[in-house]
Amino acid sequence: MATGSRRALLGGLGAGMVLAGMNGRSRAAPARRIGYAIVGLGSYATRQVMPNFAGCDHARLVALVSGTPAKLDQYGAQYGIPATHRYSYADFERIRDNPDIDAVYVVLPNSLHAEYAVRAAQAGKHVLCEKPMATSVAECAAMIAACRKAGTKLMIGYRSRFEPYNRLAIDLARSGYVGRTRLITAEHGFAIRPDQWRLDRALSGGGSMMDIGIYSLNAARYLTGEEPVEVSAIESTNRSDPRFRTVEDRIGFQLRFPSGILANCLSSYSSGHNGYRVIGAQGWINMEPATPYSGQSMMIRKDGVTAPRILPVAAKNQFAGQLDHLAECILNGGTPIVPGEEGLADLRVIEAIYRSAAERRHVAISA
Ligand code: NAD
Repeated sequence: MATGSRRALLGGLGAGMVLAGMNGRSRAAPARRIGYAIVGLGSYATRQVMPNFAGCDHARLVALVSGTPAKLDQYGAQYGIPATHRYSYADFERIRDNPDIDAVYVVLPNSLHAEYAVRAAQAGKHVLCEKPMATSVAECAAMIAACRKAGTKLMIGYRSRFEPYNRLAIDLARSGYVGRTRLITAEHGFAIRPDQWRLDRALSGGGSMMDIGIYSLNAARYLTGEEPVEVSAIESTNRSDPRFRTVEDRIGFQLRFPSGILANCLSSYSSGHNGYRVIGAQGWINMEPATPYSGQSMMIRKDGVTAPRILPVAAKNQFAGQLDHLAECILNGGTPIVPGEEGLADLRVIEAIYRSAAERRHVAISA
C-alpha cells in the first residue's frame, strides 16, 4: 500500500484500530479517559458511583473531595488516589490547578448542589450533578448560566436514562406500541428512617417530592417527551411524626400534557413504591420495579395478551453508562441527553406541585 493512501486510511478509520489489525503485536494507543473528581463521599457516591468506574470505557476516578480526612484516606487508598488529588471543601478551588480533573460529580445534599456546581464551573471543570439538580428553579438557572459562561458541560444524574428497560419503555411509549398514550401512572416512595439530612428542609429543599417523587415526575416527562402544562396536587403529612417536622411525607399529583395525556403520580416517604404504567387504547406497558439500581421488570399487555419483556443483561450498567456519556460528550463536543435544562424542567414542575398543594388549586405551568 502506498504511504499516502495508508496514511489516509489511518486518519479516516482510527489509527489504533487499523494498526492493531495490521500487526498482531501493535496495540491501539489507549484513548484518553475523562477524569472525574467526586464531591461528597456519602452513601450513593461510595456504594454506587465509585465502584462503577470499573465498568467505564471513557471515564476514570482521579480525585476526591470530602470534609472528612478519614474518608479521603480510606477511599484514596482503596481507589489509588494520591494525596495530591484529595481535597477538602475549603480547598476545593485548588481543583482548577489539577489538569487530571476534567469533570466534577456533585453528590452532596441537595441544597449544596448549586454552590458546588457553580464553583466547579468557575474552576473550569465540567459538571455532573445529582438529582434533584437543586432546590429551586432560580438555583438551576444560576448553574446553567455558570456552566455556559465557563464553557463547561452540565449534566444531571438521571441514571434511568442509561438503563435499558427504561430506554425501551420510552421507545415503546413514544412510538405508540400499545396505542397512543392516554394515561401514565407513576409511584415512587419508601419509608424513610429518621435523623438524616433528607428530613431537614434547609439541606433537602423539600421532602419526598425532591428525593423520590422526582422519579415519578421525571418518568412522566421522559415517557411522554412532553412538558406538562397543568398540575393538581394534594399533600398528606402527619406533622406530629418527628420525621416530618420540616418536610412533606406524601404528595399525589396529576399532570396534564399538551397532547392530552394525563399522568397520575405519587411521592411518598412512608410507603414503598417503585413503578410506572403507560396505558394506551390497545394495552399497557408496566414497569415494576422501574427505577431501582438493578432488577427492572417489564410486563406488556397488547391486544389482550399479557407477557413479560426480558432484555439481555447490558454490557454496561446505568451508572457506568451515565459516567461514560458525559465523558463522551466532553471528548466529542456533544450535548448530554440529560443537560441542566432537564433538571430545571423538573424543578419548575416541583415548584408548581408545591404551590398547587399549598393553595389547593390547579396550577398552570409555563416554560
Ligand atoms: P449521604 O448522606 O449518604 O451523603 C451525603 C454526603 O455529603 C456525606 O458524605 C456528607 O458527609 C456530605 N456532606 C457535606 N456537607 C454536608 C452537610 N452540610 N450536611 C450533611 N452532609 C454533608 O447522601 P446520599 O444518599 O449519598 O445523597 C447525596 C446526593 O445523591 C443527594 O442529592 C441525593 O438525592 C443523591 N442520590 C441520588 C441517587 C440516585 O439514584 N441517582 C441515589 C441516592 C442519592
